[in-house]
Amino acid sequence: MFEGLRSRLSGFVNKFVNKELTEENMKDVSKQLERLLIRDEVAVSVAEEISAGVRKSLVSEEIRRFSSPMERFTIALRSSLEDILTPKDDVPDLLQEIKAAKEMNEPYVILFLGINGTGKTTTLAKMANLMQEKDFSVVFAASDTYRAGSIQQLAKHAEKLNIRVIQHKYGSDPAAVAFDAINHALAKNVDVVLIDTAGRMQTNTNLMNELKKIKKIAEPNFTIFVGDGLAGNDVIKQAQDFDKFIGFDATILTKMDANVKGGAAISVASITKKPILYMGVGQSYSDIEPFVPLDIVENIISIENSN
Ligand code: GDP
Repeated sequence: MFEGLRSRLSGFVNKFVNKELTEENMKDVSKQLERLLIRDEVAVSVAEEISAGVRKSLVSEEIRRFSSPMERFTIALRSSLEDILTPKDDVPDLLQEIKAAKEMNEPYVILFLGINGTGKTTTLAKMANLMQEKDFSVVFAASDTYRAGSIQQLAKHAEKLNIRVIQHKYGSDPAAVAFDAINHALAKNVDVVLIDTAGRMQTNTNLMNELKKIKKIAEPNFTIFVGDGLAGNDVIKQAQDFDKFIGFDATILTKMDANVKGGAAISVASITKKPILYMGVGQSYSDIEPFVPLDIVENIISIENSN
């Protein structure tokens, strides 16, 4: 999936093969590492953080006992990336939380945020499918009442998945749609309410006010930011803005099946300090996988293309 960072750095690191890997000697390697990370769309501040972590580990006693510089470098890089990608707090188990809510006869409400085109609606459908596989019933709230075609798009997924969509006319109040969907879930004992929302430019004040209102009325149990794994630095800005204005609990990164460089995952994790729960790996409903930080780290540093 990723072009191995290690392979791209190996020539450089190996130049130091016969040298002692002192902090001074490693400055050049870490500059080169920063450049490669930035080229892989890691945010500048995060690239600096990773390379500082690598430099620090390289001179530690623990790492000095390995004889090969490449080995030492890989261990240091792995540890620095792991530090960033592994959330400090426990990652919530959504399915477990839904089960607990169901036991209390309460619908579990999830609000989805994200810019148009990132794969938000597809992700909503994938999550619904995942929940149905666990025997939870789902209702959709078509709270993107702004973009032409958005309600039909959601309804198409709903039809395939045999899910009810609560919808109003285009231009109507999206918070009212969410409210109705929750009431529907309460009346019909539906386990999960998934709220689709509009996603024009995240800096749009009207959009942010609209989303704030939805959040206030729906009081979601969980809010998910959906970001495009291919969007590079844009996804970082989006995550920051949605978090600042609306607030969210976790991220899902889409399009991770494409030849992504991993920069989005590293940067979003580092900057938001929130877990990445799942990643989208294709266009079918089953193309969603739990995000496993260690797998991503191995992918980023592994030698996949050894030239
Ligand atoms: P929205 O505007 O954010 O609701 O985006 P959509 O859900 O309509 O998705 C936009 C496009 O991205 C569609 O063609 C989806 O099939 C595609 N897409 C969504 N998630 C993924 C993914 O994980 N991998 C790939 N390859 N395509 C995806």
